[in-house]
Amino acid sequence: MQIPQTGLSHEDVMAKLEENRGNDADWRHAKTWSLVYSAGEDIERVVKEAYLKYFSENALNPNAFPSLRQFEGDVISMAVTMLHGEEDSVGSMTTGGSESLLMAVKTAREWARENMPHVTEPEMLAPLSVHAAIEKASHYFGVKVVHIPLDAGFRADVAAARELVTPNTILIIGSAPAYPQGVMDPIEDLAALAQEKGILCHVDACLGGFLLPWVEKLGYPIRPFDFRVPGVTSISADIHKYGYAAKGASVILYRTRDLRRHQFFVYPDWPGGLYASPTMTGTRPGGAIAAAWAALNYIGEAGYMRLAKVVMDTTKSLQAGIRAIPELKILGEPDMSVTAFTSDDIDIYMLGDRMEERGWKLDRQQLPPCLHMMVTPPHAAIIEPFLSDLRECAASLQGTDATPEGAAAMYGMLNSLPDRDAVKDFLRDFMET
Ligand SMILES: *Cc1c(COP(=O)(O)O)cnc(C)c1O
Repeated sequence: MQIPQTGLSHEDVMAKLEENRGNDADWRHAKTWSLVYSAGEDIERVVKEAYLKYFSENALNPNAFPSLRQFEGDVISMAVTMLHGEEDSVGSMTTGGSESLLMAVKTAREWARENMPHVTEPEMLAPLSVHAAIEKASHYFGVKVVHIPLDAGFRADVAAARELVTPNTILIIGSAPAYPQGVMDPIEDLAALAQEKGILCHVDACLGGFLLPWVEKLGYPIRPFDFRVPGVTSISADIHKYGYAAKGASVILYRTRDLRRHQFFVYPDWPGGLYASPTMTGTRPGGAIAAAWAALNYIGEAGYMRLAKVVMDTTKSLQAGIRAIPELKILGEPDMSVTAFTSDDIDIYMLGDRMEERGWKLDRQQLPPCLHMMVTPPHAAIIEPFLSDLRECAASLQGTDATPEGAAAMYGMLNSLPDRDAVKDFLRDFMET
């Protein structure tokens, strides 16, 4: 292709953008269980308007747009308060959970260079269930991941973690909750271990950061996971998940200002000027910052409580429905809105395919094979038809000798392939196409 010689009309551009949506995941009818976190039309309208107001502004230079500096400061301050930070606690906004985790690891590496100078090959302990962005951070920053095995409930095994600490360990990570099964790691024990060893402890609350505080207030038994826990030195929390902001909004928070200094990149010798950048990206989208500020202020604590109640009530109905289907079983005991389920009787990936034929998009997971669902408020309206389809599809696979095809065959094959380098090649090919 080439850039058109003369541009299309406004109408043509818009029409083509709409036309192309045809095969997209149908999140507007609550058919998807990941990727989009929606909280209803009035919130969406406010967030969009806020985004558009600051559509062109750039938070790279904090002096150019004091408005954005203020919004970012407010967002960080609200997040710190929500997660029980201290007077000295600070943070930065990033474009998402991955960037927040990258920053946590980069900060730990720089902190260790100053405070643990004997370490030349730094290591971090992270549960097997930790988000893949931690593996990415390891890949980018040269901090080796040492995996903490999980217990039978999919939580980090702290006794095993203790055995894995070496003189090179600079950081211990736990999730609140972990993405795959939605269970929280024993943060208090992991943080105590980190404190005892004089190293850092990051809590990945990308998923739970803007939901667990309300779930706890609703009366659910949530173990402390935030700055109330001694030894927790940093926390990541995504506003574009259960904060219901526009995409491109997360926070990375530090217990102390001193720690955050290690995150900053500065370069005083650039011909383009004195350069300082807080996070990974250069240009930082003003829209995402303004929209995050708008979401927190428009929804408010009462709104977040109301939405959290809908999410938890719906999750409980969903889980009760899955438990009532004889072919299916839920993995672990999920702490909030995430449910992963599998089967001993039927091919769980084939179930995923059958549900997809009926328009439901469930995410496939591996190690072990299971299907994954995250509940958001709009799911309250569709839980009954969903469960009825799930029941029928599961029953239809009972006793069948049909061989998996399509996505089920592919997942089954890749899951069982012992040569993981071959799987890496497959994934690179997939990205290329
Ligand atoms: C979503 C998620 C991330 C990564 O966030 P992105 O915004 O997709 O980059 C990290 N950790 C957990 C637990 C998550 O759920």
